[in-house]
Amino acid sequence: MELELEMPMEGGGEQGRWEEERLKTASLSFGAKKEREKGLKAEREKYQLILEEDEIINFVSSAVIMKGTQDETEQEQAALSQAEVQKQSIQEVRRSLPVFPYREDLLLAIQQHQILVIEGETGSGKTTQIPQFLMESGYNDGGMKIGCTQPRRVAAMSVAARVAQEVGVKLGNEVGYSIRFEDCTSERTVLKYMTDGIGLCLKVVVVIIDEAHERTLHTDILFGLIKDIARFRPDLKVLVASATLDTERFSCFFDDAPVFRIPGRRFPVDIFYTKAPEADYLEACVVSVLQIHVTQPPGDCLVFLTGQEEIETCCELLQERCRRLGSKISELLVLPIYANLPSDMQAKIFSPTPPGSRKVVVATNIAETSLTIDGIIYVIDPGFCKQKSYNARTGMESLIVTPCSRASANQRAGRAGRVAAGKCFRLYTAWAFKHEMEESTVPEIQRTNLGNVVLLLKSLGINDLIHFDFMDPPPHETLVLQDIKYLLCFSLNISIFLYLSRYKCSEEVLTIAAMLSVNNSIFYRPKDKVVHADNARQNFVVPGGDHMVLLNVYTQWLESGYSTQWCYENFIQFRSMKRARDVREQLEGLMDRIEVEVCSSGGDIVPIRKAVTAGYFYHTARLSKGGYKTVKHQQTVYVHPNSSLFEEQPRWLIYHELVFTTKEFMRQVFDQGELLLSCHCCHLPLLFKVFR
Ligand code: ADP
Ligand code: MG
Repeated sequence: MELELEMPMEGGGEQGRWEEERLKTASLSFGAKKEREKGLKAEREKYQLILEEDEIINFVSSAVIMKGTQDETEQEQAALSQAEVQKQSIQEVRRSLPVFPYREDLLLAIQQHQILVIEGETGSGKTTQIPQFLMESGYNDGGMKIGCTQPRRVAAMSVAARVAQEVGVKLGNEVGYSIRFEDCTSERTVLKYMTDGIGLCLKVVVVIIDEAHERTLHTDILFGLIKDIARFRPDLKVLVASATLDTERFSCFFDDAPVFRIPGRRFPVDIFYTKAPEADYLEACVVSVLQIHVTQPPGDCLVFLTGQEEIETCCELLQERCRRLGSKISELLVLPIYANLPSDMQAKIFSPTPPGSRKVVVATNIAETSLTIDGIIYVIDPGFCKQKSYNARTGMESLIVTPCSRASANQRAGRAGRVAAGKCFRLYTAWAFKHEMEESTVPEIQRTNLGNVVLLLKSLGINDLIHFDFMDPPPHETLVLQDIKYLLCFSLNISIFLYLSRYKCSEEVLTIAAMLSVNNSIFYRPKDKVVHADNARQNFVVPGGDHMVLLNVYTQWLESGYSTQWCYENFIQFRSMKRARDVREQLEGLMDRIEVEVCSSGGDIVPIRKAVTAGYFYHTARLSKGGYKTVKHQQTVYVHPNSSLFEEQPRWLIYHELVFTTKEFMRQVFDQGELLLSCHCCHLPLLFKVFR
């Protein structure tokens, strides 16, 4: 994995100028302002004794400082009181959170509105306090429950543990959590933190969709579901809680629901960039932590990495270097946090730092907004995160390390300003921040395999995907096509349908598609009537191949008035035909929705051939010595003896599927009449790429 940050261009050009401007406003090495006052020279000397010159990273300060919301004296007072926070009782800590003064206003707003968007800086108490306010004011009367959805498992567990402690109950009793493969709730549970809000029960009186700004797939689907449920359950309260991002959009989506803003308490954060890109951000993190540790005043440090492996490596490196430096430095407590970390280890990050030492928490972006660790003054941000991405061509979903968005980077920086003025060290250049990072993170629904979305919704009993209320609807066409795929159990190539409208034979192709979806159970061949059955089957044979035979069977059945008797006489399975009819009706409904006109080719096979070829061109096989060779893999295959083309053996075939019984057989084959070679299909390779 490589850092993709580029060197700013030397001189000239917009990039160069921008960089230059930033440099002019910069102070030379980080933390320099204060050090200069205290006698920079002595400080630097001391520090070079500890770290080698080439181990030091040069940071430049940007002119951009994240503004705080308080004046200096307030800041100092607050910082002081924060230092005492650890000594405070739980109730005192609760009262010190930014949300506390707004308790009554908030409860009133919840009472007055069914849906409320709540915006507040990370750490203001949304997740831990609001459910408690609700519990304290009787929302649970009559055994009703409060559900709070979390995108991350660690957050659900850790927050539930904290709230149970604050309420003074055992975790899993009144306050519990439920994550995949682990349910820590009981009959008595009235407040439940969960990662999968989709299983919300009827007894839920308030649902909090927390961390809404993360826009995970589940959250996005939950938005649509809850909006719908809220319409027929006027007693249900919906709270959409978000960090200070995107709240207008949430309000807009929920029919202009009011936004309740909890004013944050944020101290200014000085932001530093590297002068040049860092080739190895892991190493750069280690160096930066040590640099902070030996040069900066007390205060804990938070490092953002992308996953367990990186985090473990970073922690090991840090511990190793600390061991080597021995008594030259004060104690450095290195603590990891990531999704699979055992929960007792997770809890450690919250324990107070002993005097005289410094805590470094090395975290995934779970610490961006889901978890708040008190006492953080320094943030190190290499600018990367792990993101799910979907490759439509290969159909593969993967987690890849990508530069994070500017919005993410700013959230990360914000973590340094919660208890006092802080510093954020970005391990990339100011130029990269401005030019190489996306403005905000793309919602997961836009980078996932839509097939999964369709499956999830279907499993929830939502059949009408087209009218499902998505906040950012996936492309209409893609959704419909995924729907078709789902309907046909993923067996039919969807691009056929794209071509229907072009080739004016949608009536026929609808039937063929529906019949193919039940293809292997149409003909009935009882042991005692094999000859009769084979004869009956032979009677359906028409030119063109098995697809045309299927069409013929369906058409005759339709003409019989969908007769059971007709099926019986012709050795056709009635149940399969009924299923085909059902599928066909649903497909027709979908076609209607994407406004594809349903029309017939009037007996002409050519357009049907074009549509099938278009849909299945990569299922092409060419006659060669003794059998066929597939175009895709040059595999030797044979026409199935059941096929209407078994004896004909045309030069080019399209097959529906390959099955291996005694040899590799092609089942349901279609004589594609050398269409592939004609110019009509020359754009097909493109389709191939898109839909494979
Ligand atoms: P928000 O949801 O607005 O980001 P939270 O309710 O998560 O805020 O956090 C409020 C306070 O609770 C913070 O000061 C945080 O440090 C503290 N807190 C949250 N979880 C834990 C925990 N597991 N252990 C100790 N303190 C916690
Ligand atoms: Mg929260």
